[in-house]
Amino acid sequence: MPTNRILARRTANMGASAIREILKVVSRPGMVSLAGGIPAPESFPLAIVREITGTVVEKYGSTAFQYGHTEGFLPLREALVDYLVEKGIDTTSDRILISSGSQGVLDSLGKILINPGDRVALEAPTYLGALQAFAPYEPNYVQIASDDQGMLPDALAAALSHRGVKFIYLVPNFQNPTGRTLSMKRRRAIAGIIQRFDTLLVEDDPYGDLRYRGTPMPPIQTLAPDHVVYLSTLSKIFAPGLRMGFCLAPGEISHWLVLAKQGVDLHTSTFNQALAAEYLAGGHLKRHLPSIVALYRPRQEAMLDAMARFFPSSFTWSVPDGGMFIWVKGPEGMDMEAVNKMAVTRMTAFVPGTFFFARPGDGRETMRLNYTMADEKTLTGAIKTIGDVLEEALMEMHGQAGSVNYRR
Ligand code: PMP
Repeated sequence: MPTNRILARRTANMGASAIREILKVVSRPGMVSLAGGIPAPESFPLAIVREITGTVVEKYGSTAFQYGHTEGFLPLREALVDYLVEKGIDTTSDRILISSGSQGVLDSLGKILINPGDRVALEAPTYLGALQAFAPYEPNYVQIASDDQGMLPDALAAALSHRGVKFIYLVPNFQNPTGRTLSMKRRRAIAGIIQRFDTLLVEDDPYGDLRYRGTPMPPIQTLAPDHVVYLSTLSKIFAPGLRMGFCLAPGEISHWLVLAKQGVDLHTSTFNQALAAEYLAGGHLKRHLPSIVALYRPRQEAMLDAMARFFPSSFTWSVPDGGMFIWVKGPEGMDMEAVNKMAVTRMTAFVPGTFFFARPGDGRETMRLNYTMADEKTLTGAIKTIGDVLEEALMEMHGQAGSVNYRR
């Protein structure tokens, strides 16, 4: 049957992504991958899961295995109130919605908000999964200029005043892919702008708890609660396989999010929600989180040290206070897709940064490096390999050997 004839128009926008091809290559045996964006398996609290699984069965019995409300399992929503209050978010359990991963919220938001041609403002670069979630609903993306402190408020205000923007999407803490964090001053400025223009902001915060240095900053939601959908997840601080996301949305948006989710999966796994409720309410997250931070911080430090030793001096990179990624920028003209292909022949891989830009062709000279999936020694070796490949690519670019061959 000619499938093309029956596919919906939006399906074409789901496009076979080049990044999927890259991720296929990196799963080859023996490959050292700095390409993924996934937590270290040794960060999963298996002993705690063993313990609280029994508690869940005892405490909730068959309820944990029954259909539930689309909004979410009440004990989890109650546990999340305390979790969010600690971030400065003032809420009640009836306002919190549970989703199948925070990815589920992104899709639902696309479904209830985006008409074909609507403008969605994003950081440049931004989270690829958000681009993928919104794309089938046929938005026009408006890239907002960003620097190492995140989205530029003036650029956002200019975009909002010149063009109608349906909503803004940003990742405030240890952003995927750059690792950067929006400064307090900019949080205040952006909160003021969305109130002034009466525009919705989608604040996606999966990494906020993975802080290795410095002091946490309040979500923009706390500064403009009527204009922000705040979403987060237990994927990075418990286990992504549980698919446990949640959000807090103003007014009517919440109502439509529930209806959109109902049509997709009725509700998120009741048993997993019960496990998550115990993980939070039983104080396990508080006890376990420091061990995740203790696992990742030295990995990040090892990667940064190795980059200072092995990367050519014409490259710059982010030094994030937390999260899972470092963002690298090479000199203009550098083609990181070609560099990645060279690195893969030496069994080392990363993600070329161009995939994280809404505008095709932007960011060709950038790359994203992940440091959560390998130990310090492996990371150091991988960075040396990538450094060698970068030196070679630079020499090729300049057409002369040796001229750029010095280290920081
Ligand atoms: N938002 C961002 C910025 C992410 O990096 C991720 C995971 N890579 C997600 C959302 C989705 O997370 P999950 O669906 O596992 O909650």
